[in-house]
Formats: sequence, C-alpha cells, structure tokens
Amino acid sequence: MQIAQNSVVAFHYTLTNDEGEVLDSSEGREPLTYLHGAGNIIPGLEKELEGRDVGEKLVVKVSPEEGYGEVQEQLMQEVPRDAFQGVESVEPGMQFQAQTQGGPLMVTVKKVEGDTVVVDGNHPLAGQQLNFDVEIANVREASPEEVEHGHVHGEGGVEH
Ligand code: ZN
Repeated sequence: MQIAQNSVVAFHYTLTNDEGEVLDSSEGREPLTYLHGAGNIIPGLEKELEGRDVGEKLVVKVSPEEGYGEVQEQLMQEVPRDAFQGVESVEPGMQFQAQTQGGPLMVTVKKVEGDTVVVDGNHPLAGQQLNFDVEIANVREASPEEVEHGHVHGEGGVEH
C-alpha cells in the first residue's frame, strides 16, 4: 500500500547532520509512527514519503525551511540567574520550560556569564541541514477516528 493522505506510516530512520554525526535514530526502538498528511512530522520529510511503499529505503535531505526552521535571533535571550530559583547549578545544555506570551516554550541554556544566563528558545535542530536515512516498515489506512483526531491510535500512537 502506497503512502497517501490518511495513511498510517511506521518507519525507521537515522538522522545525521552534514558532518555525518548521528543526531537521532530509531535503531533498537520501535519505528516512528505518524498519520500522513496531518503535519505530524516535518514538511520536508512528509513530502518525500508521499507515494512510497513498505520496504522502500530512501535518503531525504531536508533544508531548515522544510525542517525545524532557521535560527531566530530573537529567541536567544539573556535572563537573570535569579529566574532559575530552586535550581542549584545552571549549566549549558540544560533545558527548561519557560512561560512566554505565546505559551510555554522549551529553552536550552547556551551559556552562563556571572549573573546572566543566555537561553535559546530555538528548536535544537533549527538552522540545520538534516539527512534522514529512512526505511518504511509499515503502511495502513487510518481509521475515521484517527483522521478526525489528526493522530495515530494504538501501537506507536496515542492511547486514549
Ligand atoms: Zn485520538
């Protein structure tokens, strides 16, 4: 069965950057399952999976525009160390949920300079060229309920 609108797709992947570093992989885990055409995964990958079939292997290059976006300078902010009350030691790489006008945002500590902490609200993969090695493990038709909810139920999906 070919991947089309409202297919439920399970695929294995290894994600590397242009330096060949592995950033993420489904190796040793269950394949990633998503509802095709519902914006569950990044646009550049979803587009390339269209029309593919079970067992197919493909290499997909995704630019930041079709991935996690460009790095936005305005999402880099300096906040006072006092904002991290109850945190004994603030170190680069730590992630916190920040409350912003646009709702909760996951931020990563970039550096700590005295009483000032530089945090980055960009997605960790923003601004990066992404290379996916994909192998399609399974394709099935979504149930009407899954289509209505916009996500997969059961194995690899939402349990409710
Ligand atoms: Zn649901």
